[in-house]
Amino acid sequence: MRNPFPNIFKPLDLGFIRLPNRIVMGSMHTGLEEAKGGIDRLAAFYALRARQGVGLIITGGVAPNITGWLKPLGMTLNTRWKVHKHRKIVDAVHREGGRICMQILHAGRYGFHPFVMAPSAIKSPISPFKPFSMPEWYIRKTIRDFGRAAFLAKKAGYDGVEVMGSEGYLLNQFMAPHTNKRKDKWGGSLENRMRLSLEIVREIRRRTGEDFLIIFRISLIDLVREGSVWYEIVALAQALENAGVHILNSGIGWHESRVPTIASMVPEGAFVPLTKRLKEVVNIPVVATNRINYPEQAEGLLQRGEADLVSMARPFLADPGWVSKSSKGNTDSINPCIACNQTCLDRIFKGQVAGCMVNPQACMETVRVIRPTAYPMKIAVVGAGMAGMVFSATAASRGHDVTLYEKKGELGGQFNLAGKIPGKENYFQTIEYYTQRMKESGVHLKLSEEFDVIKAHNEGYHAIVVATGVRPRIPDIKGIQLPHVMDYVQAIDHPDKIGQRVAIIGAGGIGFDVALLLSEQQVPAVDRHRAYCDFWGIDLNVKTPGGLIEPRKTLSSRQVFLLQRSKGKMGAKLGKTTGWIHRLTLRKRGVQMIAGVEYSRIRSDGLEVIIKGEKRLLEVDHIVLCAGQEPTHVVPSNLRDLPIPVHIIGGAKDASGLDAERAIHEGFELGRNI
Ligand code: NAP
Repeated sequence: MRNPFPNIFKPLDLGFIRLPNRIVMGSMHTGLEEAKGGIDRLAAFYALRARQGVGLIITGGVAPNITGWLKPLGMTLNTRWKVHKHRKIVDAVHREGGRICMQILHAGRYGFHPFVMAPSAIKSPISPFKPFSMPEWYIRKTIRDFGRAAFLAKKAGYDGVEVMGSEGYLLNQFMAPHTNKRKDKWGGSLENRMRLSLEIVREIRRRTGEDFLIIFRISLIDLVREGSVWYEIVALAQALENAGVHILNSGIGWHESRVPTIASMVPEGAFVPLTKRLKEVVNIPVVATNRINYPEQAEGLLQRGEADLVSMARPFLADPGWVSKSSKGNTDSINPCIACNQTCLDRIFKGQVAGCMVNPQACMETVRVIRPTAYPMKIAVVGAGMAGMVFSATAASRGHDVTLYEKKGELGGQFNLAGKIPGKENYFQTIEYYTQRMKESGVHLKLSEEFDVIKAHNEGYHAIVVATGVRPRIPDIKGIQLPHVMDYVQAIDHPDKIGQRVAIIGAGGIGFDVALLLSEQQVPAVDRHRAYCDFWGIDLNVKTPGGLIEPRKTLSSRQVFLLQRSKGKMGAKLGKTTGWIHRLTLRKRGVQMIAGVEYSRIRSDGLEVIIKGEKRLLEVDHIVLCAGQEPTHVVPSNLRDLPIPVHIIGGAKDASGLDAERAIHEGFELGRNI
């Protein structure tokens, strides 16, 4: 069969190392680095991706010394006795025929500990610790520490190192006037600001020789005030090439930047144009990153010569088999990353081990193992939301005979609503993926079919799984039955029926989603990239410092009120890495977000509320209820009287605090253990 992606699967020969394809698994901190027993799990995590054909793996960031820690006792490679830990990882990858580089990351002022050092003593907005300005002697030591970390990485067997020079970490902090206010030879002129990066690369080359891969992740757009401009970035890239770097990886935006760069609302491949421009000014391979998810997309950009390699990180959490499936043209069977950040980045920011919402086995490869069942059973599943689907696919793959009943005509449950929210369109692909998995494992589907006790009797099931999900909570507010009140399901399904003035009751994840949907200005697909850059004030020419320009005002054409009863921050429970984006987006669109609201009553001309003790009428055409959920009770209560086990999972079990992650993971766990 003709290879469907010839550019992805074209080897890259660097003389001393040959990569079998153009796919790089980008650096991701998983939290396993520091967890008890984490190294064995980390080795299994990387080994599985290597076995499935990833061209090159880059580890999560490893500090070269303790001032470089991201958090106290973060993974560090500074002494010989730590080499054996790394060897476990390297050996596991090499046994599978893979290649792996260790990323050396010095956090600079992004460190969450009291020893933080940076070019200048300027606190970052994302760490409570103000850094010390690095003295000259410590800069010299840091250069030697990078060299030693690379030397020890070579001893551990790594194929090379990636030097983290972007995302606002130490080397990026030295490069940008935003954080570098030094008056000595390490600050001021461009030559001085580049010096640290270049000396580090030379030191690594000196310590590791010619046949050890050096990748440098260079910031192509800082997205902070007083960030670098393009000619400076080009100068650094060319100097790095001359200093001995083999590959340049693209870094996009600093962590403190108020511009989203990887979340789901960022258009696919939004920053590839920058990598393409970098490729035009250097002679070494360059890597494209950020919001690249699909083989077709990777193949297209490689074929157009926009990059030499493509790096993806979260897509390898979602599906370790991305490369092997692509090589066979089985792209429909790829479990796509939906860029929710909920189970990966948000967990890491809470100091937990990362996982993946759509792949419960990510980072749990040795723990959540699926084994064939010794006692195949006939199982009925009621409800084809994500909990029911994931259960069915998992249980059937183990040898159970599973029949899935869904009274509606479609699979996916609440994911069908999520997929209609702007930027969340690929939630539909998760439904498709699990549909495919159910087909492969032989699940019998009964769509538009209600399940009842008679069926349970007649069909001879051994167990029943109730996954009937949730329904919107209808709060007890006077006037709730009026015709201009609707729940979020109706609003998401028919936004066109909602008038120009609308009040949303409840500002949880769904309230925010509805506000985003109703305040969105429709943009044709071809203009989405331009609209994203305009809205967030991005200059992709990077002529302005940090590539920031004045954002274009894009007010909502609807007047939208988003309301919550509790005082304090709106949407306080939204994810750490995405909540700020939702709040900022709504603010920029002119949505009025009001906390501490008391709902008095709903009138035909609007919603009467009390805010700070004052009665107010919000004159609106529609009121949308996003006040949380309750379990759906569609299964007759006498089902519990049957002499067979009945398992209840997902929202049907407990609607409070339900989210997609819990639904999917509960479905998986029961499917794995039943
Ligand atoms: P939720 O996050 O629990 O929010 C429910 C909202 O309704 C809260 O703002 C609550 O705030 C309000 N509320 C609760 N009872 C009420 C009542 N009786 N009367 C009036 N208001 C009431 O639930 P959800 O928005 O339905 O989301 C469900 C799950 O999906 C959550 O876990 C959520 O995190 C997740 N999800 C997340 C996202 C995202 O992160 N982007 C998107 C969609 C869904 P007050 O009590 O302060 O009024």
